[in-house]
Amino acid sequence: ECAEEPRKDNVVVAVVGGGLVGALNACYFARRGFQVEVFESRGDIREAEIVRGRSINLALSHRGRQALSRVGMEEKIVSKGIPMHARMIHSLNGKQSPIPYGKKGQYILSVDRAGLNKDLLTEAESFPNAKMNFDHRLHDWNSDTGCMTFIRPDGTKESLQADLIVGCDGAFSTIRKQFLRQGRFDYSQTYIPHGYLELTMPAIDGEFAMKPNFLHIWPRNTFMMIALPNQDKTFTCTLFMPFDEFEKITSGDEVMDFFQTYFPDAIPLIGVDSLQRDYFRLPAQAMVSIKCSPYHIKDKCVLMGDAAHAVVPFFGQGMNAGFEDCIVFDEIMDQCNEDFSAVLPEYTRVRVPDDHTIADLAMYNYVEMRAHVNSKWFLFRKKLDNILHFLLPKTIVTFTRIRYHEALQRWQWQNKILFIMQLLL
Ligand code: FAD
Repeated sequence: ECAEEPRKDNVVVAVVGGGLVGALNACYFARRGFQVEVFESRGDIREAEIVRGRSINLALSHRGRQALSRVGMEEKIVSKGIPMHARMIHSLNGKQSPIPYGKKGQYILSVDRAGLNKDLLTEAESFPNAKMNFDHRLHDWNSDTGCMTFIRPDGTKESLQADLIVGCDGAFSTIRKQFLRQGRFDYSQTYIPHGYLELTMPAIDGEFAMKPNFLHIWPRNTFMMIALPNQDKTFTCTLFMPFDEFEKITSGDEVMDFFQTYFPDAIPLIGVDSLQRDYFRLPAQAMVSIKCSPYHIKDKCVLMGDAAHAVVPFFGQGMNAGFEDCIVFDEIMDQCNEDFSAVLPEYTRVRVPDDHTIADLAMYNYVEMRAHVNSKWFLFRKKLDNILHFLLPKTIVTFTRIRYHEALQRWQWQNKILFIMQLLL
C-alpha cells in the first residue's frame, strides 16, 4: 500500500550513469525535490574535446520528445535537431525513392548524441538539489544498505549511501551485476552477428551532399547503410554488416571494390580518400540485445535505459524507450505518493512487458532486414504502408505513446488479416 505523505528533500537519490537516460532522470528526480547525486565514470563531456561513445547522432521520436517536454527540454533539443520526414531509399543504380514516415507532417529528428547529453547535464545541474560527480566509476554496491563504492581516476575509493539507487549505467551496467546475485532474476543477452562502423559524408561547398530532411537508407539484404544529417551539414553514415564480412576487407582497394559493388553512389559523396582512411579508423562495434526482469531490488534500486534493456538499433527506439522509462516511473511516483516500496514493484510490473516487446520488435526488424530487405522490398512495403497505415507497428511505435506491447498485439492482428487476404486473393 502507498504511504500517505510524500517524502522529500533529505532523501538521497543516486543516479548512476550520466549518459542520456541518467542525465534526463536526474532532472525528473531533482524536480521532485530529492537530493540527487549523479555519478558518471567519464569526465565532464562538456569539457572534453572528443567524446567517445556510440553512434554520433540518433533518431529522436515521439516517446523521447514527450519525456523531454515534461522537464521543459523539448523545444531546446528539437530546435537543434534536423527533421527527417521520410526515408530515402537508395537503389543500386543510384535511384532515390522517398518513403514518408507516417501521416503528412509526421517526422523524426536527427539529434547529436553528445550535444543532447551535454544539454541534459546542464539542465540537471541547474537544480540546486542536484550534484554531478564526474570521474566516479561505480565499483560495487550493497543492496541491503544502498552503500556504493566508486573508484576515482587516481585509484582512490569513495563511498556514499543513498536511499534510492537508479541504475542508468548502460548496457554493461555495474548496478545490474548485483541483480544477477539475487534469486529469481531473469537475464538474457544476445550479440548479433552484425557490427557497425561510422563514416562521415562531408558538406559540399558548405551544403549537404544529399537531401537533408531524410533518413537515407541503402538496403542491400545482409548489408545495410544508413545516413543521418548533422547540424554542420555533414551526414553520419552507419554501415551495418556481419563481422565476417568486415574481416574480409583488409585494404583500401578492397574497401573501394566493396563500395563499388554495393554503394556506388556514396563513393563520390564520402570521397575516395576519406573512405579508404576512415573505414579502418575504428574497428566495427558490436551490438547486443539484453532483457532482464525484475527491474528493481526491494525499495532500494531500479534499472532504467540500456541497463535494463539494451536493444539492437533497427527500430531507432533504444534511447526513446529509455526516455519513456523516465515518464512511466514519474507517473507511478505520482500514483504511489513517492513511496519507493510501492513504486518500484509497480514500475517492474508495468514496464517489463513493454521494454521486452521493443527488444523483440527491434530484433525482429533485424532478422527481417537480414533476410530480404532490399530496395524492392522497401518499395513494396510502401504500398502496404499506405493501405494499412494505422495498424502498422512502426507508426504506432514511432509516433504515439501506445504501450509497446499493445502495438505488438495490433500488429499480430494485422498479420492475421494479411494472411486471410492472401488466402482469399
Ligand atoms: P548510455 O548512453 O550507455 O549511458 C550510460 C552511462 O553510464 C555512460 O555515460 C557511461 O559512461 C556511464 N557508466 C557506465 N558504467 C558506469 C559505472 N560503473 N559507474 C558510473 N558510470 C558508468 N536509440 C534511439 O532512440 N534512436 C536511435 O536512432 C538510436 N541509434 C543507435 C545507433 C547505434 C549504432 C547504437 C549502438 C545505439 C542506438 N540507439 C538509438 C540506442 C541508444 O544509443 C541507447 O539506447 C542510449 O544511449 C541509452 O542511454 P543510457 O543512458 O541508458 O546508456
